Amino acid sequence: MVVKWLLVGASTIAAEYMIWAMRALPGGSVAQVTSGSAARAADFAARYQIPAWGTDLDAALAAPGIEAVYVSSTNEKHHAQAMAAIAAGKHVLCEKPLGMSLAEAGEMVRAAEARGVVFATNHHLRCAGSHRAIRAAVAQGRIGRVLSMRVHHAVHLPPHLQGWRLNDPAAGGGVIPDITVHDADTVRFHLGEDPVEVVAQMTQSGLGQGVEDSCMSVWSTPSGVQVFAHDSFTHRFAGCGLEIHGTEGSIFGRGIMTQKPVGEIELVTAAGRERVPYSNYDLYTQGVADFEAAVAGRGRPAADGADGVKSLAIALAVREAARSGTRQRIDYGGF
Ligand code: NDP
Repeated sequence: MVVKWLLVGASTIAAEYMIWAMRALPGGSVAQVTSGSAARAADFAARYQIPAWGTDLDAALAAPGIEAVYVSSTNEKHHAQAMAAIAAGKHVLCEKPLGMSLAEAGEMVRAAEARGVVFATNHHLRCAGSHRAIRAAVAQGRIGRVLSMRVHHAVHLPPHLQGWRLNDPAAGGGVIPDITVHDADTVRFHLGEDPVEVVAQMTQSGLGQGVEDSCMSVWSTPSGVQVFAHDSFTHRFAGCGLEIHGTEGSIFGRGIMTQKPVGEIELVTAAGRERVPYSNYDLYTQGVADFEAAVAGRGRPAADGADGVKSLAIALAVREAARSGTRQRIDYGGF
């Protein structure tokens, strides 16, 4: 199918991954980019061979042929931009976190439902072959009843991303909206249930200025699974991964909390250790393919709007638990 995309935000994630993912699919074309700055928009369009650029979102949305909008601005802009795209009848793939509050995110998802357009959240990890293989192993009962899950997502924020994430709470900075939100989606994806309560602590450990750059949290789920998440922007050598432990086995996914199709998965049971194979296709291309299939009426996006609301709800509860020092019940806002 042919999908003409409008990019809202001259962002790093669009430049590094999403433009290429859109172009990798048959008929996929990036038709236009909008930015808050004419100079940035023009430079971005020239650099990535995008035929049109501008600073007027409504004008861009009115351009002929635009079917889908990818919102990848800073977090505080997602809500207004996505709402404008939905009002214009466009399908929307929005970056995480969907908004700054649960109310914003819920409003976006409900508006898309009412307008009859596809709305998806760009949670790339659940698109990975590695994560899909782990999920299948858990669902097939290969580790028995799940007891606990540990997510290791303490990484080092690359220098070229050391901006608003570290010093601008109004733009949605902090490791919790950036990384914990991905953990939240990944945990829900693997366990197939929504966590109910969290406790947490956060800190600034060298990079954050006015926002947390590190957080440890513990979550519980309805079936009694305990989840531990360690998120940071300041850990150069920690590596990343996840472990899921069950009554009959443990799964170790090493190096898989990442944007690339890399890492290894090991299953350990009474029978011994075995490597779990997976397909190493590009995560973002898969996410765009799933989105475009949903636009064509085939299935649902990898992570839909409700998934984005829920990952944000968990992240907000983690931050409130860390801020207040109290256990928080997670409010999913009716989703
Ligand atoms: P960037 O900082 O690269 O871009 C965000 C915005 O900042 C742009 O839209 C642009 O605004 C502005 N901007 C970009 N470059 C400059 C500059 N040189 N000077 C001033 N402003 C600039 O952010 P990311 O691409 O890292 O993140 C964008 C969104 O994508 C966030 O919501 C983030 O959470 C999400 N993200 C998701 C990932 C995923 O895997 N799903 C991975 C990385 C990010 P304007 O639009 O006005 O041009």
